[in-house]
Amino acid sequence: MTEPSLLWFRHDLRLSDHPALLAAVAGGRPVLPVFVLDDAAAGLHRPGGAARWWLRASLAALGRELAARGAPLLLARGRAETVLPALAAAIGAAAVHAGRAYEPWARAQSQRVHEALADAGLGLTLHTTGLLREPHGFGSGSGKPYAVYTPFAKAMLAAGEPPPPRPAPDRLAGVPHPPGGETLEALDLYPVPGEPDWAAGFGASWQPGEAGAQARLARFTRQALGAYDRQRNLPGVDGSSGLSPHLRWGEVSPGQVWHAARAAQADATGTETFLKEILWREFSYHLLWHRPEMPQAPLRAEFARFPWQPDARLLEAWQQGRTGYPVVDAGMRQLWQTGWMHNRVRMIAASLLVKHLLQPWQAGAAWFWDTLVDADLASNSASWQWVAGSGSDAAPYFRVFNPILQGEKFDPEGRYLRRFVPELAKLPQAFLHKPWEAPAEVLAAAGVRLGQSYPRPVVAHEAGRARALAAFAALRA
Ligand code: FAD
Repeated sequence: MTEPSLLWFRHDLRLSDHPALLAAVAGGRPVLPVFVLDDAAAGLHRPGGAARWWLRASLAALGRELAARGAPLLLARGRAETVLPALAAAIGAAAVHAGRAYEPWARAQSQRVHEALADAGLGLTLHTTGLLREPHGFGSGSGKPYAVYTPFAKAMLAAGEPPPPRPAPDRLAGVPHPPGGETLEALDLYPVPGEPDWAAGFGASWQPGEAGAQARLARFTRQALGAYDRQRNLPGVDGSSGLSPHLRWGEVSPGQVWHAARAAQADATGTETFLKEILWREFSYHLLWHRPEMPQAPLRAEFARFPWQPDARLLEAWQQGRTGYPVVDAGMRQLWQTGWMHNRVRMIAASLLVKHLLQPWQAGAAWFWDTLVDADLASNSASWQWVAGSGSDAAPYFRVFNPILQGEKFDPEGRYLRRFVPELAKLPQAFLHKPWEAPAEVLAAAGVRLGQSYPRPVVAHEAGRARALAAFAALRA
């Protein structure tokens, strides 16, 4: 009989367009699919609370799909370099296949697994399952990695279209006597291990798993792609794809998203703008691969001496959506309630934290890590560094978003704000984004008691802006 393969699922929890899966089953080989929860390897970057909620549901969906095709998923917990060689030995595997992972901890993990399997005379073959193009070996004319998005994106586009996605196999041959694994319950993937599911309400917004990813992709390309360039910045409109958590867990490949967008034949400007966002994701991974210190350390060295003023009270006001800036508070509450925040609001909220409040970007990134269902080490740390001005291709330091004008521009009718900050819902439009300017009788008529039912701004905009500019100027001195 043909010797079986071991297929190690990592951040690619799908069956279609999965080169590692196709390689594992080539020639009709039986396959043992396995997922290993290895929190010790990930350390500080183990999935945060919201991501654990997602992972649990996604593994359940993947398990159902695999079982239906004939090769049930084995769940394991522990060090991958211990678990995988033991499973390979138990089934007499001839090969081990997996997707490549790019986080510094995951690269080290791949290396350890590789060495442990080599001791048993086996190889680990890594495939590209999560990106359009591998970051290693992709560089500028001089061969150097890209540090700036625009030339990177140009080179990606010039390199040609990604290969067409490949379908999932209809049937899989499982191994005859698979070893026992853990139950999903035993993986303890609650947002706070051992405690009930605080994120249970997320299910109203999301359907984790490959079927949910495909449904969202189809809906987006049909309904919103054509207007993407005009609507993606409006948090009160369903104008962006909402694919980020599906992409983060690899329930859909970037190649599938790319080709679906092209095939939709929607308005060309909408499509091109959308594809450029997919390239921002690629760029973040490119940066993470070449600058593995990115999650902790500023990419611009001078930012190591930035005069941050850590303050637990300010950080908590921001985390709880009680800064007194309605658009920021709406975003932070959307995050808490749904595990996701609109991109424009992420930028405004992050800017307020690092500029007006002078809190280190790492503190904001850590909160996002724990509360976002799409928490992704590459995109999260690249984006925070971009907002803070410490990234390689960052917003200039003097660009301090005005949270009032941003709110008025991008949520002009207050649809987003009224949904997530209901205590301000009855205010007239003119004061919705700046309730502290409303006359007392207007506040009273709207049932708003500033400082009680809704906070006053934690710092006045002009004072916060001046303080941020002074701090940045000190850095340059
Ligand atoms: P769409 O607008 O539909 O874009 C399509 C896809 O492109 C997204 O799903 C995402 O995979 C990718 N993308 C879009 N914008 C960006 C971007 N700026 N950088 C990298 N990829 C992008 N995105 C994450 O996936 N995980 C994170 O942890 C994360 N943290 C962020 C933190 C901050 C402070 C900021 C400002 C942005 C962060 N982003 C992060 C990027 C962006 O906000 C989200 O990818 C986007 O809001 C997801 O919504 P969507 O799927 O509807 O995006």
